[in-house]
Amino acid sequence: YAAKRTGEPYRSWSPAMDERAGQNARLGAQMRAGLDDGQFRVVYQPIVAVPERRVVAVEALVRWDHPDRGPISPAHFIPVAEQNGLIVELGEWILVTACRQLARWRAELGDRAPDKVSVNASARQLARPGFAATVTRVLADAGLPARCLTIEVTETAVFEGGQAITTLHELRALGVRIALDDFGTGHSSLRLLQTVPVDILKVDKLFVDHITEAGRPTVIARSLIQISDGLGLTAVAEGVETAAQAEALYRLGYRLLQGYHFGRPVAEPDFDLTGVRAAA
Ligand code: C2E
Ligand code: MG
Ligand code: MG
Ligand code: MG
Repeated sequence: YAAKRTGEPYRSWSPAMDERAGQNARLGAQMRAGLDDGQFRVVYQPIVAVPERRVVAVEALVRWDHPDRGPISPAHFIPVAEQNGLIVELGEWILVTACRQLARWRAELGDRAPDKVSVNASARQLARPGFAATVTRVLADAGLPARCLTIEVTETAVFEGGQAITTLHELRALGVRIALDDFGTGHSSLRLLQTVPVDILKVDKLFVDHITEAGRPTVIARSLIQISDGLGLTAVAEGVETAAQAEALYRLGYRLLQGYHFGRPVAEPDFDLTGVRAAA
Protein backbone atom coordinates (compact mmCIF):
# COMPACT_ATOMS: atom_id res chain seq x y z
CA TYR A 1 0.00 0.00 0.00
CA ALA A 2 0.94 3.68 -0.30
CA ALA A 3 2.63 3.96 3.07
CA LYS A 4 4.93 1.11 2.17
CA ARG A 5 5.83 2.53 -1.24
CA THR A 6 6.90 5.90 0.13
CA GLY A 7 8.76 4.31 3.01
CA GLU A 8 6.65 6.30 5.47
CA PRO A 9 5.87 4.41 8.65
CA TYR A 10 2.20 3.54 8.48
CA ARG A 11 0.19 5.04 11.31
CA SER A 12 -3.56 5.18 11.33
CA TRP A 13 -5.11 8.40 12.57
CA SER A 14 -6.61 8.29 16.03
CA PRO A 15 -8.36 10.96 18.10
CA ALA A 16 -5.58 10.55 20.67
CA MET A 17 -3.05 11.78 18.09
CA ASP A 18 -4.98 15.02 17.51
CA GLU A 19 -5.31 15.46 21.22
CA ARG A 20 -1.59 14.93 21.74
CA ALA A 21 -0.71 17.42 18.97
CA GLY A 22 -3.09 19.96 20.53
CA GLN A 23 -1.57 19.46 23.98
CA ASN A 24 1.94 19.90 22.64
CA ALA A 25 0.99 23.09 20.80
CA ARG A 26 -0.48 24.42 24.03
CA LEU A 27 2.58 23.36 26.00
CA GLY A 28 4.81 25.09 23.42
CA ALA A 29 2.92 28.37 23.82
CA GLN A 30 3.04 28.09 27.61
CA MET A 31 6.78 27.46 27.42
CA ARG A 32 7.26 30.78 25.63
CA ALA A 33 5.38 32.56 28.42
CA GLY A 34 7.16 30.51 31.09
CA LEU A 35 10.55 31.54 29.78
CA ASP A 36 9.61 35.23 29.99
CA ASP A 37 8.02 34.62 33.38
CA GLY A 38 10.99 32.88 35.05
CA GLN A 39 9.34 29.46 35.46
CA PHE A 40 12.46 27.59 34.38
CA ARG A 41 15.40 26.83 36.61
CA VAL A 42 18.60 24.86 36.36
CA VAL A 43 19.70 22.15 38.80
CA TYR A 44 23.12 20.50 39.03
CA GLN A 45 24.09 16.87 39.54
CA PRO A 46 27.60 15.88 40.71
CA ILE A 47 29.95 13.84 38.52
CA VAL A 48 32.27 12.18 40.99
CA ALA A 49 35.84 10.83 40.72
CA VAL A 50 36.28 7.54 42.60
CA PRO A 51 37.63 6.27 44.88
CA GLU A 52 38.38 9.74 46.30
CA ARG A 53 34.78 10.93 45.85
CA ARG A 54 35.77 14.33 44.54
CA VAL A 55 33.08 16.23 42.64
CA VAL A 56 34.99 17.04 39.45
CA ALA A 57 32.04 18.35 37.46
CA VAL A 58 28.33 19.00 37.60
CA GLU A 59 25.74 18.37 34.91
CA ALA A 60 23.23 21.19 34.41
CA LEU A 61 19.66 19.91 34.01
CA VAL A 62 16.71 22.17 33.29
CA ARG A 63 13.49 22.14 35.35
CA TRP A 64 10.10 23.64 34.55
CA ASP A 65 7.69 24.45 37.34
CA HIS A 66 4.46 24.85 35.42
CA PRO A 67 2.03 27.18 37.23
CA ASP A 68 -0.95 24.76 36.89
CA ARG A 69 0.60 21.40 36.18
CA GLY A 70 3.51 21.55 38.60
CA PRO A 71 6.94 20.19 37.65
CA ILE A 72 7.12 18.83 34.09
CA SER A 73 9.95 16.46 33.11
CA PRO A 74 12.49 17.73 30.57
CA ALA A 75 12.11 14.34 28.88
CA HIS A 76 8.61 15.61 28.03
CA PHE A 77 9.07 19.32 27.29
CA ILE A 78 12.53 19.34 25.64
CA PRO A 79 11.22 17.39 22.59
CA VAL A 80 8.36 19.92 22.32
CA ALA A 81 10.85 22.80 22.49
CA GLU A 82 12.92 21.02 19.83
CA GLN A 83 9.89 20.85 17.59
CA ASN A 84 8.75 24.45 17.91
CA GLY A 85 12.28 25.85 17.88
CA LEU A 86 12.12 27.38 21.36
CA ILE A 87 15.01 25.12 22.38
CA VAL A 88 17.39 27.63 20.79
CA GLU A 89 16.37 30.40 23.20
CA LEU A 90 15.77 28.08 26.15
CA GLY A 91 19.09 26.32 25.50
CA GLU A 92 20.99 29.60 25.44
CA TRP A 93 19.34 30.64 28.71
CA ILE A 94 20.40 27.30 30.27
CA LEU A 95 23.96 27.77 28.97
CA VAL A 96 24.19 31.31 30.34
CA THR A 97 22.72 30.26 33.70
CA ALA A 98 25.03 27.26 34.08
CA CYS A 99 28.20 29.16 33.11
CA ARG A 100 27.39 32.02 35.49
CA GLN A 101 26.69 29.53 38.27
CA LEU A 102 30.03 27.79 37.86
CA ALA A 103 31.80 31.17 37.77
CA ARG A 104 30.03 32.06 41.04
CA TRP A 105 31.06 28.77 42.70
CA ARG A 106 34.65 29.27 41.57
CA ALA A 107 34.67 32.75 43.10
CA GLU A 108 33.02 31.60 46.35
CA LEU A 109 34.55 28.18 46.87
CA GLY A 110 37.93 28.31 45.13
CA ASP A 111 39.49 24.83 45.09
CA ARG A 112 36.33 23.21 46.40
CA ALA A 113 34.34 24.26 43.32
CA PRO A 114 33.92 21.66 40.56
CA ASP A 115 36.30 22.06 37.61
CA LYS A 116 33.60 21.85 34.97
CA VAL A 117 29.96 22.26 34.16
CA SER A 118 28.38 19.95 31.61
CA VAL A 119 25.50 21.37 29.55
CA ASN A 120 23.20 19.35 27.28
CA ALA A 121 22.76 20.66 23.75
CA SER A 122 20.03 19.47 21.44
CA ALA A 123 20.20 18.61 17.74
CA ARG A 124 18.57 21.86 16.73
CA GLN A 125 21.12 23.98 18.62
CA LEU A 126 24.07 22.12 17.07
CA ALA A 127 22.59 22.47 13.60
CA ARG A 128 22.84 26.27 13.79
CA PRO A 129 26.06 27.68 12.33
CA GLY A 130 26.21 30.31 15.10
CA PHE A 131 26.30 27.94 18.07
CA ALA A 132 30.07 28.03 18.66
CA ALA A 133 30.01 31.85 18.48
CA THR A 134 27.22 31.88 21.08
CA VAL A 135 29.28 29.64 23.36
CA THR A 136 32.31 31.92 22.94
CA ARG A 137 30.26 34.97 23.92
CA VAL A 138 28.57 33.23 26.87
CA LEU A 139 31.91 32.04 28.27
CA ALA A 140 33.42 35.50 27.93
CA ASP A 141 30.42 37.15 29.62
CA ALA A 142 30.61 34.67 32.51
CA GLY A 143 34.40 35.04 32.74
CA LEU A 144 34.79 31.28 32.42
CA PRO A 145 37.66 29.54 30.58
CA ALA A 146 36.52 27.20 27.78
CA ARG A 147 38.10 24.20 29.52
CA CYS A 148 35.46 24.58 32.26
CA LEU A 149 32.64 23.71 29.85
CA THR A 150 31.56 20.35 28.49
CA ILE A 151 28.78 20.12 25.92
CA GLU A 152 26.77 16.88 26.03
CA VAL A 153 25.28 15.67 22.77
CA THR A 154 23.38 12.50 21.94
CA GLU A 155 24.25 10.04 19.22
CA THR A 156 20.98 10.91 17.51
CA ALA A 157 21.82 14.64 17.41
CA VAL A 158 25.09 14.06 15.54
CA PHE A 159 23.99 11.03 13.54
CA GLU A 160 23.18 13.06 10.42
CA GLY A 161 26.63 14.67 10.32
CA GLY A 162 26.72 18.01 8.50
CA GLN A 163 26.67 21.26 10.49
CA ALA A 164 26.37 19.42 13.83
CA ILE A 165 29.81 17.86 13.27
CA THR A 166 31.25 21.19 12.11
CA THR A 167 29.89 22.74 15.32
CA LEU A 168 31.60 20.07 17.43
CA HIS A 169 34.93 20.77 15.71
CA GLU A 170 34.48 24.49 16.36
CA LEU A 171 33.66 23.89 20.03
CA ARG A 172 36.71 21.70 20.49
CA ALA A 173 38.90 24.30 18.81
CA LEU A 174 37.71 26.70 21.52
CA GLY A 175 38.82 24.24 24.20
CA VAL A 176 35.32 23.05 25.09
CA ARG A 177 34.97 19.30 25.70
CA ILE A 178 32.39 17.12 23.99
CA ALA A 179 30.56 14.28 25.73
CA LEU A 180 28.55 11.66 23.89
CA ASP A 181 25.48 11.23 26.13
CA ASP A 182 23.40 8.09 26.72
CA PHE A 183 26.09 6.19 24.87
CA GLY A 184 24.99 2.85 23.51
CA THR A 185 21.30 3.68 23.19
CA GLY A 186 21.22 5.73 19.96
CA HIS A 187 22.05 4.83 16.36
CA SER A 188 25.28 3.46 15.13
CA SER A 189 27.32 4.13 18.25
CA LEU A 190 30.57 2.59 17.10
CA ARG A 191 30.63 4.28 13.71
CA LEU A 192 30.21 7.62 15.46
CA LEU A 193 33.35 6.97 17.49
CA GLN A 194 35.33 6.89 14.25
CA THR A 195 33.92 10.11 12.85
CA VAL A 196 32.69 12.38 15.61
CA PRO A 197 35.12 14.56 17.59
CA VAL A 198 34.46 13.50 21.17
CA ASP A 199 36.29 13.50 24.51
CA ILE A 200 33.90 11.81 26.92
CA LEU A 201 31.64 8.76 26.68
CA LYS A 202 28.67 8.78 29.01
CA VAL A 203 27.71 5.14 29.35
CA ASP A 204 23.95 4.92 29.70
CA LYS A 205 22.16 3.87 32.86
CA LEU A 206 20.80 0.94 30.86
CA PHE A 207 24.19 -0.79 31.25
CA VAL A 208 24.62 0.30 34.87
CA ASP A 209 21.31 -0.98 36.24
CA HIS A 210 22.40 -4.65 36.27
CA ILE A 211 26.13 -4.09 36.70
CA THR A 212 26.28 -6.16 39.88
CA GLU A 213 25.12 -9.27 38.01
CA ALA A 214 26.96 -11.41 35.48
CA GLY A 215 25.03 -10.72 32.30
CA ARG A 216 25.01 -8.96 28.98
CA PRO A 217 24.85 -5.37 30.33
CA THR A 218 27.97 -6.06 32.41
CA VAL A 219 29.83 -7.52 29.44
CA ILE A 220 28.88 -4.44 27.40
CA ALA A 221 29.92 -2.04 30.18
CA ARG A 222 33.29 -3.81 30.38
CA SER A 223 33.76 -3.54 26.62
CA LEU A 224 32.81 0.13 26.64
CA ILE A 225 35.45 1.05 29.21
CA GLN A 226 38.03 -0.80 27.10
CA ILE A 227 36.97 1.07 23.97
CA SER A 228 36.98 4.34 25.87
CA ASP A 229 40.46 3.75 27.32
CA GLY A 230 41.77 2.46 23.99
CA LEU A 231 40.62 5.57 22.17
CA GLY A 232 42.02 7.84 24.88
CA LEU A 233 38.56 9.02 25.91
CA THR A 234 37.13 9.58 29.37
CA ALA A 235 34.24 7.36 30.44
CA VAL A 236 31.46 8.43 32.79
CA ALA A 237 28.93 5.88 34.06
CA GLU A 238 25.43 7.36 34.41
CA GLY A 239 22.58 6.43 36.72
CA VAL A 240 24.59 4.92 39.59
CA GLU A 241 22.05 4.37 42.36
CA THR A 242 23.78 2.07 44.85
CA ALA A 243 27.16 1.59 46.53
CA ALA A 244 27.28 -1.93 45.08
CA GLN A 245 26.93 -0.54 41.54
CA ALA A 246 29.63 2.06 42.22
CA GLU A 247 31.97 -0.64 43.46
CA ALA A 248 31.30 -2.94 40.51
CA LEU A 249 31.93 -0.07 38.07
CA TYR A 250 35.13 0.86 39.87
CA ARG A 251 36.34 -2.73 39.58
CA LEU A 252 35.64 -2.62 35.82
CA GLY A 253 37.84 0.47 35.55
CA TYR A 254 35.32 3.32 35.66
CA ARG A 255 36.73 6.33 37.51
CA LEU A 256 33.94 8.86 36.95
CA LEU A 257 30.44 8.12 38.20
CA GLN A 258 27.15 10.02 38.25
CA GLY A 259 23.86 9.07 39.84
CA TYR A 260 21.48 9.34 42.77
CA HIS A 261 23.96 7.39 44.94
CA PHE A 262 26.26 10.42 44.87
CA GLY A 263 23.66 13.13 44.60
CA ARG A 264 20.45 14.10 42.88
CA PRO A 265 20.25 17.17 40.67
CA VAL A 266 19.70 20.15 43.01
CA ALA A 267 20.23 23.93 42.98
CA GLU A 268 23.23 23.75 45.34
CA PRO A 269 24.93 20.34 45.33
CA ASP A 270 27.11 19.12 48.17
CA PHE A 271 30.68 19.38 46.87
CA ASP A 272 32.18 17.78 49.97
CA LEU A 273 31.22 14.16 49.43
CA THR A 274 34.49 12.83 50.83
CA GLY A 275 33.85 10.83 53.95
CA VAL A 276 30.06 10.93 53.64
CA ARG A 277 30.09 7.25 52.84
CA ALA A 278 33.05 4.93 53.14
CA ALA A 279 33.06 2.87 49.93
CA ALA A 280 33.28 4.10 46.34
P1 C2E B 1 20.50 13.15 30.41
O1 C2E B 1 21.24 14.30 29.84
O2 C2E B 1 21.01 11.80 30.11
O3 C2E B 1 20.47 13.42 31.98
C1 C2E B 1 20.49 12.41 32.94
C2 C2E B 1 19.11 12.16 33.47
O4 C2E B 1 19.15 11.05 34.35
C3 C2E B 1 18.52 13.31 34.29
O5 C2E B 1 17.11 13.29 34.13
C4 C2E B 1 18.90 12.91 35.70
O6 C2E B 1 18.08 13.50 36.69
C5 C2E B 1 18.67 11.41 35.62
N1 C2E B 1 19.45 10.68 36.61
C6 C2E B 1 20.68 10.96 37.08
N2 C2E B 1 21.10 10.02 37.95
C7 C2E B 1 20.10 9.12 38.04
C8 C2E B 1 19.93 7.90 38.80
O7 C2E B 1 20.78 7.47 39.57
N3 C2E B 1 18.75 7.23 38.62
C9 C2E B 1 17.78 7.68 37.76
N4 C2E B 1 16.66 6.96 37.66
N5 C2E B 1 17.92 8.81 37.03
C10 C2E B 1 19.06 9.52 37.18
P2 C2E B 1 16.28 14.60 33.81
O8 C2E B 1 16.87 15.78 34.53
O9 C2E B 1 14.85 14.28 34.00
O10 C2E B 1 16.58 14.83 32.26
C11 C2E B 1 16.17 13.91 31.30
C12 C2E B 1 16.76 14.22 29.95
O11 C2E B 1 16.22 15.48 29.47
C13 C2E B 1 18.27 14.44 29.98
O12 C2E B 1 18.94 13.19 29.97
C14 C2E B 1 18.46 15.24 28.72
O13 C2E B 1 18.43 14.42 27.59
C15 C2E B 1 17.23 16.12 28.73
N6 C2E B 1 17.59 17.41 29.35
C16 C2E B 1 17.60 17.76 30.66
N7 C2E B 1 18.04 19.02 30.83
C17 C2E B 1 18.33 19.48 29.58
C18 C2E B 1 18.84 20.72 29.05
O14 C2E B 1 19.17 21.65 29.81
N8 C2E B 1 18.98 20.81 27.69
C19 C2E B 1 18.66 19.78 26.85
N9 C2E B 1 18.83 19.94 25.52
N10 C2E B 1 18.21 18.60 27.30
C20 C2E B 1 18.04 18.44 28.65
MG1 MG C 1 23.22 14.67 29.74
MG1 MG D 1 22.74 10.98 29.94
MG1 MG E 1 19.93 9.84 29.78
